[in-house]
Amino acid sequence: MSVMKAGHHGHALHLKQQLEQHLDSEDESCKVQANLNSAFQRRCPAYLDDIVQPLLNHCSDGLIVMDKSGELVWYSDHLASLFALSSDLAFEQILSSLPAPIEKFIRDYSVSVRQADGFGVRNFDLRTPSSAYNLAKGLSGSGNVRVCRFPLTVGGELYGSGFIVSDETQKIANRRDIELAMQVFSEGNQAIIITDKEHVITFVNRAFSDISGYQSAEVIGQHVSLFFDSDEKSYFGREQLKHLARDHYWEGELQSMSKERVRYLQWVNISAYPKHADKPSNYIVVFQDMTESRRREKRIEKLAYYDTLTGCGNRLAMRKFSSQLIQDSQSKGTPSSFALLFIDIDGFKLINDTYGHDAGDKILKYLTRRINGITRRSDRLFRIGGDEFILFLIDADASLTQSKAQQVIDVITRPFQLDRNAIATSISIGIVNYPEDGQELNSLLKHADAAMYKAKAVGKGTFEYCDPELLNKFSREFRIKKQLYMALQNQELQLYFMPQVSMSTGEVVSVEALMRWTNKEFGQLSPAEFIPIAERSGMIHHFTRWVIENVTQSLDTLSQSGLEMIPCSINISPADFASATFFNSLTELIKNSHPQHITLEITETLLVEDREETLNKLLKLKDIGVSISLDDFGTGFSSMSYLTDFPIDEIKIDKTFADTLLQSKRSQDIYHALIQLSNSLGCRCVAEGVENNEQFEWLKSNGCDLSQGFLHYKPMPLSELQKLLKTRH
Ligand code: C2E
Ligand code: CA
Ligand code: CA
Repeated sequence: MSVMKAGHHGHALHLKQQLEQHLDSEDESCKVQANLNSAFQRRCPAYLDDIVQPLLNHCSDGLIVMDKSGELVWYSDHLASLFALSSDLAFEQILSSLPAPIEKFIRDYSVSVRQADGFGVRNFDLRTPSSAYNLAKGLSGSGNVRVCRFPLTVGGELYGSGFIVSDETQKIANRRDIELAMQVFSEGNQAIIITDKEHVITFVNRAFSDISGYQSAEVIGQHVSLFFDSDEKSYFGREQLKHLARDHYWEGELQSMSKERVRYLQWVNISAYPKHADKPSNYIVVFQDMTESRRREKRIEKLAYYDTLTGCGNRLAMRKFSSQLIQDSQSKGTPSSFALLFIDIDGFKLINDTYGHDAGDKILKYLTRRINGITRRSDRLFRIGGDEFILFLIDADASLTQSKAQQVIDVITRPFQLDRNAIATSISIGIVNYPEDGQELNSLLKHADAAMYKAKAVGKGTFEYCDPELLNKFSREFRIKKQLYMALQNQELQLYFMPQVSMSTGEVVSVEALMRWTNKEFGQLSPAEFIPIAERSGMIHHFTRWVIENVTQSLDTLSQSGLEMIPCSINISPADFASATFFNSLTELIKNSHPQHITLEITETLLVEDREETLNKLLKLKDIGVSISLDDFGTGFSSMSYLTDFPIDEIKIDKTFADTLLQSKRSQDIYHALIQLSNSLGCRCVAEGVENNEQFEWLKSNGCDLSQGFLHYKPMPLSELQKLLKTRH
């Protein structure tokens, strides 16, 4: 950059030249300049302008010197570049090339300034759309110009004026950015803490005060751990510091402690400032109050994991809880133990049917409350099904488990007062221990369920443990169940027929269809074993359907081979009655087979459980022409009074009575009464399990109608039955 700039005009000399010129002249200002010059001479070397001018030209602002008559004396290189003025521009054209308001300002001021202290500043916003300004293309951004004016004096005398023209666009933009950032910082809802490199708080914003309850004055100068301090999740956790040192950044959940000593979980990110410096001077800690989002999450979790009726965790929650327990226990050196109690209300269905579902709901609620009232803090109760609860007793030894189980039974045995009714109920509990009785939840549940059924079997209102025999049974049951799925498909089932003999004539009058299953793993399996498994696993419907279809075919085969269709009894499981859809398809199926020749054997439980419903269903079956037989009579509830309500055609007295018939007078009395009962109900009476002649004779003389037992025949396949029936004629 040359020293000389203003050389186009008489005035366009550089400052020194001009000063020298003035020195020669006689006028006032010459004296002034002479003084200035002598001052320069005294204080500065002659090459002053060689230094000053380049300096001024390097100044990023544009500089203008005007004399007091309003004539331009000098301008710096940068003025031209600031406004992107053409370098061809004549010296005298410079001012008029500036945006009009700036030009006007400079000219007006130059002539109006009369005082040596006339300083001033004017800002020009060249973006005003209405302006006809000659918008300078070279202005960075879109045009904020600031013009500072100041008097130039030489030797105390006013010489003219100087102007500093600066482009403020970027600065203003920067200031806006800063203001914006400040607003975000101070008014955003993220809490921000700035600390120094020692993690001492130097700044906090308003959100921080809102969340923490601390005013900024209270925390500035304090260590940041004042706020983040918790045993398990500390600000200075090893993990955090390691991350900060490596990445200059960390984010995660931290526990914070408000001024009121309330703990909050915060999602926090900490970043070092400057970002990539080896030794950061500050840390910026930003976090948001997660309480609300946590609350929302909790609500959602509650819906997913809690039973709304009782407030207990549900099956899902139980799974989560137990897998955590088991995982924790396995990760520890010495596994911790827990007891799992499978709790089931005895006859809950009866309560629902008798008192209504509202009453049932209330009992579930009260029961939860009572059980929770006697458990320890660490114990947990879950409701996993209608009337099924699971209670976990953590680290409970045998005697504690036993006393807790007894306590649970005792609190539930106390009647529940509902409106005017005091409802007495009882529960049965199956107990398993982890890890002895199962390594994972499913097997624990299965074993506990089995133990619970055992408790029900031995008399309800009691608890039972899972014992090795039960475990063994289950592992076998598990294997059978797996095979059972394939049994139908692989055609491993057969149907046998067991003849029933008339006591009076000794003739075969009817048969009972009995299922047989031969499997390569288990060989011949008794239906007494696999039918209950099919019932428990929900497969029974398929078997029942198979039997009915097979009986129909067999009856057809008999008639096709010229034999009479013989009445055939089919065993129906209570589960077949429970599902309305299946019951309907079952009725349809029988209707289209030979209903007149079919007797359905049902058990007493069906009559007790859902009396109204069962009655309707039985009537429907009667309508299509089938007979109803009450199987295994005498083993169930044996409340004889209700029998009159049901359309029953036949009663089969259970084999156990025949077994002891000859040994005890009492058995004979009972048997006699049962025969009397069926007679008085107008039912046919069938004796089951007749194995010898003595039994047969006794039964015959006591008025029994039919006899079924090994004395006469064992169950046989259809081909054999055909042969037998042929000989009958
Ligand atoms: P249940 O209905 O009481 O059938 C009578 C059972 O007692 C049959 O055993 C039969 O073989 C046996 N039995 C009959 N008379 C005598 C006797 O004099 N002495 C001895 N020791 N036993 C005798 P099975 O065939 O093993 O059936 C056992 C149980 O399996 C049946 O008891 C029945 O509850 C069930 N079951 C069999 N087939 C079916 C079926 O198709 N569907 C359903 N739901 N259950 C079936
Ligand atoms: Ca039967
Ligand atoms: Ca039976």
